[in-house]
Amino acid sequence: MDLATARVYAIGLRNRFRGITVREGVLLHGQAGWGEFCPFGDYSDDECVPWLRSALEAAERGWPAPLRDRVRVNATVPVVGPQEAYDIAVESGCRTAKIKVADARSTHVEDCERVAAVRDALGAGGAIRVDANGAWETDAAVSAIADLDRAAGGLEYVEQPCPTIEELAAVRRRTHVRIAADESIRRAEDPMKVAVSGAADVAVLKVAPLGGVRRALEVAESCGLPCVVSSAVESSVGLAAELALAAALPELDFACGLGTTSLLSADVTASSLTPVDGELTVRTQAPEPDLFGYVAADRVTRDRWLDRLHRVAGRREFVDEFR
Ligand SMILES: [Mg+2]
Repeated sequence: MDLATARVYAIGLRNRFRGITVREGVLLHGQAGWGEFCPFGDYSDDECVPWLRSALEAAERGWPAPLRDRVRVNATVPVVGPQEAYDIAVESGCRTAKIKVADARSTHVEDCERVAAVRDALGAGGAIRVDANGAWETDAAVSAIADLDRAAGGLEYVEQPCPTIEELAAVRRRTHVRIAADESIRRAEDPMKVAVSGAADVAVLKVAPLGGVRRALEVAESCGLPCVVSSAVESSVGLAAELALAAALPELDFACGLGTTSLLSADVTASSLTPVDGELTVRTQAPEPDLFGYVAADRVTRDRWLDRLHRVAGRREFVDEFR
């Protein structure tokens, strides 16, 4: 892999996400096509290693063969008022919505209103899941989930209600709503532990922090839970790897969190991975970044990312990979 192929992008987000308003990353080209390296700014070099592995897999090796040609996706509803939440759900064309809750910018009552508005938008046949990103303690989670379940007229699942596996297991014993583990899977040394300790009903998988499609497939197999693939809000180049995982999983019963290009104000390619009628069409290769000129980062941002890329690529994990 030649690091001279690196192109640094900076793309505005339509809504604040993880405290950021601009998504940045690097595209890398290899013999199999393009890959994306876009760990969040607060990640240590250690944590960046799997992200680079994932970019390398895409650029140099490509992905396992898909088992399906379409993947259902969910709408993503950020911390917005009920009317905007309603509009996002309707305009998405999706039958499933994931709603951010337990955020500092929103009260619990506002969370319930947002959830109820999305139920109005989707109707009785739609599926509603909420994501707390580990914000609650056990007791708070149990009562908040009960309220949100009522407001939703039934939740599909609640994602990461509490930070630790022990707390997830404790909450799971006290609610009938399914528990999905997200951060707990990504950070787990042993994803089996999540299943064995009875902490979750569903595993949320992301290719980039797990180190590639093949590695994520191993995690899916070892945790033994139904899986949902969710993006890290990559450009369409990185998103293609997430989609490749969704396409290659032996079973896929839930809609995936891959309809995320709409969170970005631009993309690196004209052949953006945008859902139609709530579904993405599987591609076997990441798209060409043919619009790169519009999203190229300024020099300061570029230098910061190239520095980071070279630091991570220079680690002994990659001794045979880069020149
Ligand atoms: Mg999550």
